[in-house]
Amino acid sequence: MRLEQIMSEKLLAKLRYASTSPTPEQVNGIKAMLCKKFNVDDIELELSEDKSIGGGFIVSCKNYEYDWSDAGRAKQLRAEINNLRREHGGNDAGKIISMLSDKVENFDLAVEDKEVGSVVWVGDGIANIDGIEHAFYGEIIEFEDGTKGMAQDIRDDHIGCILFGNDAGIRQGTRAVRTYKEAGIPVGEAFIGRVIDALGAPIDGQGDIKESGYRPVEGPAPGIIDRQSVNEPMETGILSIDTMFPIGRGQRELIIGDRQTGKTSIALDTIINQKGKDVICIYVAVGQKASTVAKIIQILKKTGAMDYTIVVSSTASDSAPLQYIAPYSGTAMAEYFMHEGKDVLIVYDDLSKHAVAYRALSLLLERSPGREAYPGDVFYLHSRLLERSSKLSSELGGGSITALPIIETLAGDVSAYIPTNVISITDGQIFLESDLFFEGMRPAVNVGLSVSRVGSAAQTKAMKKAAGSIRVDLAQYREMAVFTQFSSDLDETTKNQLAHGNVLMELLKQPLEHPLAMHEQVIILVAVGAKRLDMIPVKKVRDYKERLLEYFNTEQGEICQELEKSGDLSDQLKHKIIEAVDAFNDIENKKLKEEVEEIQKNNH
Ligand code: ATP
Ligand code: MG
Repeated sequence: MRLEQIMSEKLLAKLRYASTSPTPEQVNGIKAMLCKKFNVDDIELELSEDKSIGGGFIVSCKNYEYDWSDAGRAKQLRAEINNLRREHGGNDAGKIISMLSDKVENFDLAVEDKEVGSVVWVGDGIANIDGIEHAFYGEIIEFEDGTKGMAQDIRDDHIGCILFGNDAGIRQGTRAVRTYKEAGIPVGEAFIGRVIDALGAPIDGQGDIKESGYRPVEGPAPGIIDRQSVNEPMETGILSIDTMFPIGRGQRELIIGDRQTGKTSIALDTIINQKGKDVICIYVAVGQKASTVAKIIQILKKTGAMDYTIVVSSTASDSAPLQYIAPYSGTAMAEYFMHEGKDVLIVYDDLSKHAVAYRALSLLLERSPGREAYPGDVFYLHSRLLERSSKLSSELGGGSITALPIIETLAGDVSAYIPTNVISITDGQIFLESDLFFEGMRPAVNVGLSVSRVGSAAQTKAMKKAAGSIRVDLAQYREMAVFTQFSSDLDETTKNQLAHGNVLMELLKQPLEHPLAMHEQVIILVAVGAKRLDMIPVKKVRDYKERLLEYFNTEQGEICQELEKSGDLSDQLKHKIIEAVDAFNDIENKKLKEEVEEIQKNNH
């Protein structure tokens, strides 16, 4: 074909009308508008009848569509009603009708100018769309059957779109329309205590949730000026973590370890410990078994933690796009509360499965695989997620998001691709070890490999003073325990040091769902620091600890209150605690003596 021929070829537009064809004036008007839009001199308009549009007409040209149909108007009106509902917060029909009648009078019907494409390939939760030229990353694309997707991969000849619904109704040639909206989820107070899917829809069978607004799932992280440094503790209630690896509000602390080493348990105990502390918790389950998630919800309900918790669940049976989006949705929810000035704790369980979902998705989108077949931007996948956790400045309300991402390792290998990435993004890690777990050291925290890089700035003074040298003591003990393993005659000092270490290790064992309050932890640490526990046989330490704390809580309320109120441990208070421990030991000894006498008497 010669160039002049191509140039002279007319652009073809199609007009569908419901019953009455447009008048010649209307046709001329439409032609003039299209000529201006596409910058051509003339245009050919093909008319056809289409009853399904109800009334009016729809014009499509190239990949644009102009909607003057009744169906389009009805859709606009419906969107308007939903907006009204959200703005004025009501499901009250009367209220909506009165608001609507107001609106209808001033209702200005916009001509829908849409960019339309068609599906060329669909499968595994992915659709490739041809014809849409101007979509932006993260834009919602709507398909003919109502399924929604998100533009994820923008190329010059097609766009790759991840689907948020079933792809059964989508086939080759299905129309896909740009919505000009960023993917977002509904947020609000009403979500507290509920279980939702990755798109914010309730899945706990307790009815609709009334949202207070929408937030984009992929929001930018707060800038440097908007932040302040971490200065308030986020107590886990777990002695070994709060003393040695304290976490602050706004910090990101990774929980890392092999499978079945108690990772989820630490996160759950931390949530349980937030009772009455005015913290909102969000638990994001990614790629887990539905039965595991059900068990977790049951634990949260049983302990009363569900009252301040939101569970965002995308199980292993959900499609890769939903698993990929879930942590971002959870974070969007957390951001809503953070901007309201609240403190939020968010758990991502776990990010290894998140990376795997993203790998599946990227391979389907035909992105080139890199190390371990992950795409090149897998670091950015997690960094842009975790950077959104922060402590906002006081001017912005001082809210915070504390993140506890979880990573599963294989045979303790922390140098694999995903673990090293996430370790470098977070402000420290709690490393759990299988060997310790099986030895009965639970939680199985490896003291040598765990670290918290910012939390000590947020530790209460009392805790800081009481924790003192516990980490060094433990390190010395472990070294000595290995060294003296095979020697039989030990000198007195070594024996004492070993006994002290044994008691310390035993104290750090903590059963599930038994978080310790700050004052309880300080009391234990002061008692053990003053060597008041070293003579207790290791087997009896746990029992002794419980009775000691009960004694303090019931008989020495004053000390407990002073600790909680001042958050400090003066020398005087420390002295008082040691005296009380001695008093308790006397009572215990007396009881023991009486018991022994009783037994002796019975034997005679
Ligand atoms: P997965 O890799 O399967 O996600 P996980 O690392 O999250 O496992 P959990 O599910 O938290 O591990 O715990 C594994 C098992 O260990 C559970 O049965 C749990 O009850 C037990 N467990 C964890 N922590 C403790 C503890 N402190 N005391 C007693 N049992 C514990
Ligand atoms: Mg787990």
